[in-house]
Amino acid sequence: MIRFENVSKRYRGTNKPALSEVEFDVQRGEFVFLVGASGSGKSSCLRLILREDTPSEGRVVVLGRDLRSLTTRKVPYFRRHIGSVFQDFRLLPGKTVFQNVAFTLQVIGSSRAFIQQSVPEALALVGLEGKEKRLPHELSGGEQQRVAIARAIVNRPQILLADEPTGNLDPATSIDIMQLLARINAGGTTVVMATHEAGFVDQMQRRVIELSGGVIMRDERHGGYGDTSGLPTLAPETVKGAAATAALTAVLELQKQIASNGSSADAEQSWVDAAPTPPAPEPDTVLPAVPVVAPAPVDETFVPAPAEVEPAEPEVSAASRAEPDTGTRSTPIDSPEIDLASIDGLGVADRLGLGKRDDEEVGPTA
Ligand code: ADP
Ligand code: MG
Repeated sequence: MIRFENVSKRYRGTNKPALSEVEFDVQRGEFVFLVGASGSGKSSCLRLILREDTPSEGRVVVLGRDLRSLTTRKVPYFRRHIGSVFQDFRLLPGKTVFQNVAFTLQVIGSSRAFIQQSVPEALALVGLEGKEKRLPHELSGGEQQRVAIARAIVNRPQILLADEPTGNLDPATSIDIMQLLARINAGGTTVVMATHEAGFVDQMQRRVIELSGGVIMRDERHGGYGDTSGLPTLAPETVKGAAATAALTAVLELQKQIASNGSSADAEQSWVDAAPTPPAPEPDTVLPAVPVVAPAPVDETFVPAPAEVEPAEPEVSAASRAEPDTGTRSTPIDSPEIDLASIDGLGVADRLGLGKRDDEEVGPTA
């Protein structure tokens, strides 16, 4: 699903490469931590995956496409298959929660019916029902990041990239956000999360790719951060307990919501089991599949290569899959609700696949 082949990246005017001969392969459905100190090359990797940048050497293949061969015109369509979230949330300050999540869909021309269905689903998934009309400044940091995550997944991307998504949050809130990302992953979305925060990585026991000075130091299936003996513990026990309780409540709510779907996934049991205070889940309790796993609606302009179009996840019932957005396309540019100028300053348009980039033709070197 994501493959780096001997990738090096040198930025103009720098001597030391930001990435040196980086090689890894992420399979569909994986949850991968990209860890390493500040400056180790994590964000550079994510930018290459998004085709915000091109390697100086080597090849980046995403969704079966060699990104060198992706024409500039197709880049925005390609990016619609990839959601991204950032440390600084990047919400539109003058827009409500609902509008923040809806606006990506509006800009890409989703039908009103699709928006009216998908936005509340995404907000329910991230636990923000009832807060649709709030403005970002009326939310906590954790809630703002939830809005950003809802925005990133509302179009059902196949890949979710998160660049230090917990960097601005306190430990308990960070755990909630991590658990949300894990739940999204349990629904079938491939997640790559860059972080330099060791505690979460150790708790999650997921694949860890560690970078140091642009070089891969290790790539471990169920890794921790490495030697964390010198690091402070993530959070006091009481905070962990409260966070676990909140997370379990959220899962139970979600189970109720989609009980009629009859869908399930068993991937994310461990942190629920670890909750010390709430009643332990029944042994056969399974977490629901997140109802956003349906592949992103296929657009005519970017179609993932056939090798990447895999059979539907067996655990997801047809009923749990929202209808793909095949409705009539509105004319987004006419919509008075969309103020493209207002998003320019946030630097999110390109990441959301909305940008009209006029960069040079894609080539093997940048
Ligand atoms: P991380 O996300 O792990 O902190 P980055 O990928 O942002 O690391 O940066 C890796 C290295 O590349 C750092 O030395 C950084 O200074 C350098 N770098 C990142 N972006 C640029 C850029 N646009 N121009 C020049 N150097 C850059
Ligand atoms: Mg970074």
